[in-house]
Amino acid sequence: MTQNLINLYSDTQTKPSAEMREAIANAEVGDEQQEADPTTNRLQDMVAELLGKEAALFLPSGVMCNQIAVKVWTNPGEEIILHESAHIVNFESGGAAALSGTMTRDLTGDRGMFTTDQVREALRSKGRHQPVQSLLAVENTANLGGGAIWPIEQIEAVCDVAHEAGLKTHLDGARLLNAVVASGTSASDYAAPFDSLWIDLSKGLGCPVGGVLAGSRSFIEEAFRYKHMYGGAMRQSGMIAAAGVYALNHNIDRMKDDHENARHLAKLLVDIPGVVVPDKNIETNMVFFDVSGTGMSAAEVSSRLLDKGVKIGATSETRLRAVTHLDVNRDHVTAAAEVLARVCQGEN
Ligand SMILES: *Cc1c(COP(=O)(O)O)cnc(C)c1O
Repeated sequence: MTQNLINLYSDTQTKPSAEMREAIANAEVGDEQQEADPTTNRLQDMVAELLGKEAALFLPSGVMCNQIAVKVWTNPGEEIILHESAHIVNFESGGAAALSGTMTRDLTGDRGMFTTDQVREALRSKGRHQPVQSLLAVENTANLGGGAIWPIEQIEAVCDVAHEAGLKTHLDGARLLNAVVASGTSASDYAAPFDSLWIDLSKGLGCPVGGVLAGSRSFIEEAFRYKHMYGGAMRQSGMIAAAGVYALNHNIDRMKDDHENARHLAKLLVDIPGVVVPDKNIETNMVFFDVSGTGMSAAEVSSRLLDKGVKIGATSETRLRAVTHLDVNRDHVTAAAEVLARVCQGEN
């Protein structure tokens, strides 16, 4: 059953391929805390070059990338401007408050995005009564926005407003490379307006562990202090960095298949009675769909799907999220839609 499971739960569920495992097995290693792990150094150089930044730092997770950036750019009592659906707000255990003592100013807006007018309205007058606003954070692609891609002009514009007001800018680029592949805008163009940003290795790139944070040399120097403080400094980390090097060389362009499979899935879902795809503009690898028309809760649909070998998670009472990735192909996606159709017809 687990062998045949069609796993659309998340692009985090990918397993390293045989070729990636070979790269891991053959990795040259050293002591990462002394900057002497050649494979980690190589990965960092590759990401810095890809993103057009001076330096980069390998970290155990994307959450740590976000939390270290927040720590470097803010002081306790200061405020971060971001979208209410941001991962930093919803899925990081309150880390921005607990580790950095920050407040967040949560903006609304379609598909995980906001406008320059909203940022201007959120800017506070400066005085001793007001919290200092120190950081603007953007998520691209916007996860809860449906895998939506920010237009580069809109990113440049909101970052300009932030910089003029003296804020730093940070990009949660967990899935930036999905945006790059789908839009044709280069990673370094997307990165340019940001003082810091990171990409995840363990999502669409198919690695088992890690994220890479990038920025100026002085930013990365500070980030390394907090990497150590938070217990994220490693030793022979080349064993996991090797997967990242492999993925950057082999797994970027193929993400266009994931995006085509997601669009294919959305087309099939639209024809299932009781299922609604609220946002049909599938830009990358996610499809959110609503099952209230079936009379079942999203959790019930999810559990019945799992009984039939398809894993798709519920994200609310009525919605599920399907995510395509390198361990699912076109046939898997077609089969998953057929199973969903049977579940929605009430088949047990
Ligand atoms: C997954 C994700 C993270 C966290 O990454 P981990 O590597 O799982 O810690 C942060 N931001 C976004 C938008 C994500 O999707």
